[in-house]
Amino acid sequence: MNQKNNKFKIILGITLILAIIICSFIVENCNNNKKYTDVNLDSSKLNIFYFNVGQADCTLVTINNKNLLIDAGNKSDGEYIVEFLKEKKLNNIDYFIITHGDMDHRGGAEIILNNYNVGQIFMPEGINEAEDDYQDLKKIANKNNKQLSKVEINDKFDLDKAEFEILSVKNNTSNSANESSIVIKLNYLETSYLFMGDATQDIEKEIKCEKIDILKVGHHGSDSSTSTEFLNRIKPTYAIISAGDNKKYNHRTKDVLQRLKYANIQEDNILITKNQGTIWITSDGINIEIQTKKDINLDGTGQIGQMSIYDICSFFNAIEYIRLAS
Ligand SMILES: [Zn+2]
Repeated sequence: MNQKNNKFKIILGITLILAIIICSFIVENCNNNKKYTDVNLDSSKLNIFYFNVGQADCTLVTINNKNLLIDAGNKSDGEYIVEFLKEKKLNNIDYFIITHGDMDHRGGAEIILNNYNVGQIFMPEGINEAEDDYQDLKKIANKNNKQLSKVEINDKFDLDKAEFEILSVKNNTSNSANESSIVIKLNYLETSYLFMGDATQDIEKEIKCEKIDILKVGHHGSDSSTSTEFLNRIKPTYAIISAGDNKKYNHRTKDVLQRLKYANIQEDNILITKNQGTIWITSDGINIEIQTKKDINLDGTGQIGQMSIYDICSFFNAIEYIRLAS
């Protein structure tokens, strides 16, 4: 009997010691809960992150703590976007542009609006096809004491020393949600960047734009966007495609990749989030540097079912919060 008791005590002791070691490890990691330690933002430069959010869109533009977020990925990407922004101490979103109502652009907006200080929120208004999306987001914005606003072509906004301009948007039309997309041109000194949303080739014909440095390719590289005529007019040096694995849409077509190459864009300058991960641009307004970051993966659909250290830490932080509050 005594032997049995001793055995039980030893097992209990070992279990307790292991539990203490595991808890210490978790708490230690929660205190250093940083995933992106090698991303050192030089806020004196323009930084653009074309995030890897799978088959969706989300781009962050930041300069001197002024921030523009273009789209919010799918719903499951939202928490990872918030996590990145918080870790990088980007505490305000000055402008939040939802290019159009499709879920792969607005899905993560709810969690962002619930967690973040957002200045102005823009989205096309009165599009039949996207009316439900618009009303849903309007409710979420209103719940957070925010308004959805519309923009018009030629509207311009300052972002510290950079500025951005609206080149296309369709409000109150029967056009499709994709055709309603807000198209944005960002200028920073001698450099320029075009963000197409899911705008189609018909919209490209209407857009007034000449030479740009970086094209965020329309509609995830789908054949319905990025005509040869358009490429010959805007002559991008780099082309970035945000696309994931989703075969359902057959988006990134060979034809578009061919058109980009025929438009004299070097093969190395065509970057796809599915292959390269998040694409991080820095610029002093004259030179452009490009880094590809596979470790910045904000694609929630690729992370479902995996409990991250972030989730565990949130649990421990919540306990700590309750302890301090009580
Ligand atoms: Zn899309």
